[in-house]
Amino acid sequence: MGVLINKKRCDNASVCPCIENCPTKAFYYDTKKNTVAVHNELCINCRKCMLICEAGAVKVFRNEEELLKLKTEYDEDAMTTEKLFQDRYGACLVDETFGLDLSNLDKLIIDSNKVLLIEFYNEDEASCLINSIPIKEIVEHIPKEVSYRKIEVKDVEIIKKYGVDSLPSLIIIEGQKNHPRRSNFNLFKRRIVHENRRSFSRKCRLIFENCSIFISTVF
Ligand code: SF4
Ligand code: SF4
Repeated sequence: MGVLINKKRCDNASVCPCIENCPTKAFYYDTKKNTVAVHNELCINCRKCMLICEAGAVKVFRNEEELLKLKTEYDEDAMTTEKLFQDRYGACLVDETFGLDLSNLDKLIIDSNKVLLIEFYNEDEASCLINSIPIKEIVEHIPKEVSYRKIEVKDVEIIKKYGVDSLPSLIIIEGQKNHPRRSNFNLFKRRIVHENRRSFSRKCRLIFENCSIFISTVF
């Protein structure tokens, strides 16, 4: 028994929660190869690492048969390094069309008749790199009546008026145009999470559940 790491999905971070939480120190950082690794002879198959790794890069096996199955699964995994870096280090824009300059946000709110899903990020901040919001996943699953935009912000102080005090953050705002009534954003959040309960990753679900709501008033 032991653990097999999917190298197509693991970003080999030296500060890896699997290392921190492994009760037997089987999970470790190989400083010669600069990769995470496992001493399978120390592994007790507690599955902690598998549950902690948000990238789904870690799976346990109990016997040779399961090990072979895992190897085949990893071989057939369509993930590539390029995709990995887009998904995991996706603070930066994957697609220019999603970008928005902060100076245009208030105008967008006033002129839009859509629900706006706005992600604030700072490409230079480690927290945005580590906790980047899975843009591709979000865009694939949000309803058509929702407009998604990413805004780079260097100083979180200037977006406090949107109720944001940390980066990255995802907020929901209702566009003001043609919207005499207030949407029920909590229902909206629950609907997105519910409709995508099978396809959302844990990270994406948590982001939606925790994203804040900014009720826009006249600017
Ligand atoms: S958390 Fe998962 S993806 Fe990140 S370094 Fe650890 S094993 Fe690899
Ligand atoms: S399954 Fe448990 S013991 Fe084995 S590497 Fe993972 S955390 Fe460590």
